[in-house]
Amino acid sequence: MAQSATSTWKLPAALATALLAGGLLGWLVHGHVASGVALVALAEVVLLLTRIRHQAQPMMAAPASASPLQHDRFMTRSRRIASSLRDLRNAASQLPDAVVLLDQDQQVRWFNHAAENLLGLRRPMDRGVLLQQRLATSDLSDWLRDGTEEPLNDVAAPGHPNCQLNVSMLPFGRRQQLLLARDISHLNRLEQVRRDFVANVSHELRTPLTVIHGYLELIDPEDVPELAPVLSEMRAQSKRMGQIVEDLLALSRLETQHQIVDERVLMAPLLATVRKEAEALSQGRHEITLESTAEADLLGSPKDLHSALSNLVSNAVRYTPTGGSIAIRWQRTPDGAVYSVSDTGFGIPASHLARLTERFYRISSSRSRDSGGTGLGLSIVKHVLNLHQAQLRIESAPGVGSTFACHFGHARLLLPGGSDEG
Ligand code: ADP
Repeated sequence: MAQSATSTWKLPAALATALLAGGLLGWLVHGHVASGVALVALAEVVLLLTRIRHQAQPMMAAPASASPLQHDRFMTRSRRIASSLRDLRNAASQLPDAVVLLDQDQQVRWFNHAAENLLGLRRPMDRGVLLQQRLATSDLSDWLRDGTEEPLNDVAAPGHPNCQLNVSMLPFGRRQQLLLARDISHLNRLEQVRRDFVANVSHELRTPLTVIHGYLELIDPEDVPELAPVLSEMRAQSKRMGQIVEDLLALSRLETQHQIVDERVLMAPLLATVRKEAEALSQGRHEITLESTAEADLLGSPKDLHSALSNLVSNAVRYTPTGGSIAIRWQRTPDGAVYSVSDTGFGIPASHLARLTERFYRISSSRSRDSGGTGLGLSIVKHVLNLHQAQLRIESAPGVGSTFACHFGHARLLLPGGSDEG
């Protein structure tokens, strides 16, 4: 009794687990829970119906002893099963995403039309072949060989070199797997259009803004005392616009750059510069300390690293009330070295932390604007760190203060005397 109850629950439980996993993967890969759930459900149904068909095959030939009525019912039922199976296969075949069902030995069991188009699979000869062998010369080969737990993003489609794919592998059933591949070329193209647009607009705005700013600087407020406050506001705003344009151009450049020209970045002078900048911005309102114990230089882009490190210091000064303190540190860690800036400022509520590096994301727009912020500083920091394979970690408590830490790996460290750790 207990055993039959267990087996009754086994199938729904396995199905629920597979659907949950599908939903999670769909959300992670495509941003939609439903797409993952639908694909797993479809795969489960196709498999189930295939199994039913196999098991029903001996019964398809109606027993000789059956009465004509039993025979007719039997034939109607088997026609219904066959037609459902056909409908589901047709539906799966028409999915725009490539779907490949793999058995426990990674052999191709079934695939849809999109898999022919995007992955270059051919019917019927690719049924039963090892997928890893079949795609051995493609960009998916390392991923298939070394582990498919993490989705693979932005990879050239084996059947279509001009298409980019997001590929993921979903385990289901008894050690079977479902490979899903989505064509993201159009998204990449839109992203490129967005990038070009922002870069072009920023570039076009740069010259007129420089001219306006130049003329405003030429006007002496003493010549027009009644307009002095207006003039001062116009100067401040044109300076702010100019800074936004410069930050947008810097971001565009960082976004299109996939590699940097590595140089030795001497940390002692860089840290001294960053500290001086902080003092100039603070104008004596904060206590600023520098602690440098790492005794290592960085391998990377001097200009970009300067921009990232000074952005963090500038934020610390701007978001810490007068009388607060700011500590700049460059220290070794077991994984490499960390540059951090800690302040005793306003702090950041936990709910904002994940979004801080998005462009123009601010906790308080007025506070950012009043302090001369463009809302782009942390985006620039994130991009610069990505180019150096480094990570930004933020710890903060409202009313207590924040620490922004840039973690660099051993491969980016250069020891004094020229040797490197990588
Ligand atoms: P902004 O130019 O507005 O400072 P950033 O991208 O540098 O833009 O920072 C984004 C937002 O993160 C800021 O508007 C501010 O709300 C918050 N922030 C950044 N650094 C700090 C800090 N040290 N303390 C408190 N809030 C901070």
